[in-house]
Amino acid sequence: MKSPLPPQFPRDLLRWYDGHRRALPWRRLGEPYPVWLSEVMLQQTQVSTVEPYFKRWLDRFPAVVDVARATSDEVLKMWEGLGYYSRARKFHQACQIIADQYGGTIPDDPAKFRALPGVGPYTFAAVRSICYGDPLPAVDGNLKRVTSRLLCLQATGTALAAECEQALADVIPADRPGDFNQAMMDLGATICSTSSPQCPTCPVAQHCQARANNTVGQYPLRAAVRKRPHYDVAVGLIWRGDRLLIGRRPEKGLLGGLWEFPGGKVEPGETAEEAVHREILEEVGLDVTVDTHIGSIEHGYTHFAITMQAFHCSWIEGEAQNIGCTATQWIRFDELQNYAFPGANRKLLPLIELPASKPQLGA
Ligand code: SF4
Repeated sequence: MKSPLPPQFPRDLLRWYDGHRRALPWRRLGEPYPVWLSEVMLQQTQVSTVEPYFKRWLDRFPAVVDVARATSDEVLKMWEGLGYYSRARKFHQACQIIADQYGGTIPDDPAKFRALPGVGPYTFAAVRSICYGDPLPAVDGNLKRVTSRLLCLQATGTALAAECEQALADVIPADRPGDFNQAMMDLGATICSTSSPQCPTCPVAQHCQARANNTVGQYPLRAAVRKRPHYDVAVGLIWRGDRLLIGRRPEKGLLGGLWEFPGGKVEPGETAEEAVHREILEEVGLDVTVDTHIGSIEHGYTHFAITMQAFHCSWIEGEAQNIGCTATQWIRFDELQNYAFPGANRKLLPLIELPASKPQLGA
């Protein structure tokens, strides 16, 4: 199928890009490792959020082999707060494969790179086009939004991504495919934004069907949105002398590999105190006393939201068991900063007024 975008489109886009490109740190570096890292971090995450993480990461892990040598806890701690933690786990696995099988150098062979954990169609196209000059459209959210408006595309979801890829594949220039993709990303981020597209100053307005039809606000079409469920959760800070118990979530699944305070969902008919007592027994096999209420946290994850009640609890006897977690640790309060926690648990920390008998943070 011939692309409905005219041959002048890439020329007009790149002329604008040459004078308006964003000065992003990974662009200055241009090597496959930082470009790949940035593309992984940027998935579902804003540039302004990624930039400090990106800098800290490269300071700590200057090369792929440094990631490969790190422990899972070290990697997750560096990722803490970025969300979508499976990205970090897969990037870690991929770096270990590169260290073990390719001498620490990201393979030039496209098939070998594509086979690495976490390298999906978008990441593959972005890295290959920017670092190796492969003419592949890298269809992220920005490209979908811009292209859907340029062509008044009627599809949603994965069908929209496929239509965008098809339309852009015919016009992506062989001599500057990486710049073309980055120009589309920059156009989406700075001009053709979600809520307030700046059509009067858009460098490709003359090619835009939605602008011509005065239907910009309709695109991209939205798929039916499911309501985000809400759960009531209760967790316990279990004290044993000056130590607190934390448990590690299973590697697979939501927030996999992160540490947390034992607890779980409040069942119908149960109080939060009853729930935390039951959950601790079920999760780590300990009978505890539930003491004082610490506070309540509201937190939204991507697919659900929670209200979390937190309690100081006291260990009575016995050893913690790995029933609903893969590991447990008794740590001092000031050691919490060494572990990666989900967002709701991190929000809880400033609320904690330690009982008089417990050591203060940093003491
Ligand atoms: S003219 Fe408006 S809607 Fe069309 S691409 Fe430009 S900013 Fe987006």
